[in-house]
Amino acid sequence: MLEKVLIANRGEIALRILRACKELGIKTVAVHSTADRELMHLSLADETVCIGPTSAAQSYLNIPAIIAAAEVTGATAVHPGYGFLAENADFAEQIERSGFAFVGPTADVIRLMGDKVSAKDAMKKAGVPTVPGSDGPLPEDEETALAIAREVGYPVIIKAAGGGGGRGMRVVHKEEDLIKSARLTRTEAEAAFGNGMVYLEKFLVNPRHVEVQVLADGQGNAIHLGDRDCSLQRRHQKVLEEAPAPDIDEGARAEVLDRCVRACIEIGYRGAGTFEFLYEDGRFYFIEMNTRVQVEHPVTEMVTGIDIVKEMLRIAGGEKLSIRQEDIVIRGHALECRINAEDPDNFMPCPGKVQYFHAPGGNGIRVDSHLYSGYAVPPNYDSLIGKLIAYGSSRDEALARMRNALEEIVVDGIKTNIPLHRDLVRDKGFCKGGINIHYLEKKLGMDKH
Ligand code: ADP
Repeated sequence: MLEKVLIANRGEIALRILRACKELGIKTVAVHSTADRELMHLSLADETVCIGPTSAAQSYLNIPAIIAAAEVTGATAVHPGYGFLAENADFAEQIERSGFAFVGPTADVIRLMGDKVSAKDAMKKAGVPTVPGSDGPLPEDEETALAIAREVGYPVIIKAAGGGGGRGMRVVHKEEDLIKSARLTRTEAEAAFGNGMVYLEKFLVNPRHVEVQVLADGQGNAIHLGDRDCSLQRRHQKVLEEAPAPDIDEGARAEVLDRCVRACIEIGYRGAGTFEFLYEDGRFYFIEMNTRVQVEHPVTEMVTGIDIVKEMLRIAGGEKLSIRQEDIVIRGHALECRINAEDPDNFMPCPGKVQYFHAPGGNGIRVDSHLYSGYAVPPNYDSLIGKLIAYGSSRDEALARMRNALEEIVVDGIKTNIPLHRDLVRDKGFCKGGINIHYLEKKLGMDKH
């Protein structure tokens, strides 16, 4: 088992990791920027180290500072959380070269999955269904590119191999726009990601976002923990997630879950991971893999009873996976509302001092948040201030509990998106289940008029 873990993150996920470490009897090192001295988990950690100024580039993204902090505190492992350096292969490599365990996959696997062209190729080889498109990069030769798009059929989407965060994508509806769009996406990708490689795939018109959670030990064992639906999105950012995904074809589900597990074994995956799919007309299409813990992991924990972060720590400590696939039973339903410090009318970040915070409670309610009364949300980082999770024996029960919890929660002093969530959990279409990825934006657009 790991002895001392450095938590290379902040906010709710740093607190989440700290709690898991404490449960396992692992000592903790919390690192923070100068703007984050008031973070809740700092007062609960065994040791704290200030790793730099406010700017994330000089603190949470500062690899030498994080490694130095691990060295001076005698940490034996580093948990990257999500965001920041979590999917940076060079970081994972330097952590392991410096003699620490990295709580995640090997640098090679992070690199393979970080490039969307190589990731898609690896998945195809492993039998995971992908979106039809160019096999590999879209060739620069115009005739060949046009022929590929014609074969795939319009509309198509041109995507940057190095893209992420919903950037570096362009939809093309007609043939005469293809070459110009490919050129533009290449130029933008080169500027934004330092990699001008693009690929092409069929643009699915009304898909849902359904993803599969996996755990693997890097020693030949892998399992899945079922799926999640994250279709409620605004600008490709997830807003409200649930597990399991409602109304999915059972045959297609069983097959995709099995393929994901086999793919993990094939690529030598280690740790927790998520295969993201678009789901349309009863079929799954792989879009990318996230090689880290995800914001929405709690909904899976609620319906499986498995603590994903503790499993990640056990795996990083060299333990073999002790849970077998047949031990995993999906029971009931869970929902997660992402609570952001933002203006509910225009979605602008709304940092500032939380005058009063009251967490809701009751049967099936879980709050993952670093908030406390008097805490000042700094303006420099992500606006996520907490996650409200509701579990029920059925989706309706989870929804009813979430409605109650959203009535009980109080965050005074700053604006949050809680009013949006109160509306969403009463929205007819959402309550019915199975909405697609455009649903929220359409609703918000309609509401304005
Ligand atoms: P990123 O890494 O930037 O999040 P993804 O490949 O995960 O990029 O795609 C982000 C979002 O873009 C998807 O959730 C979906 O909304 C949309 N998208 C991507 N590929 C397609 C496609 N082939 N058809 C339709 N929508 C797509």
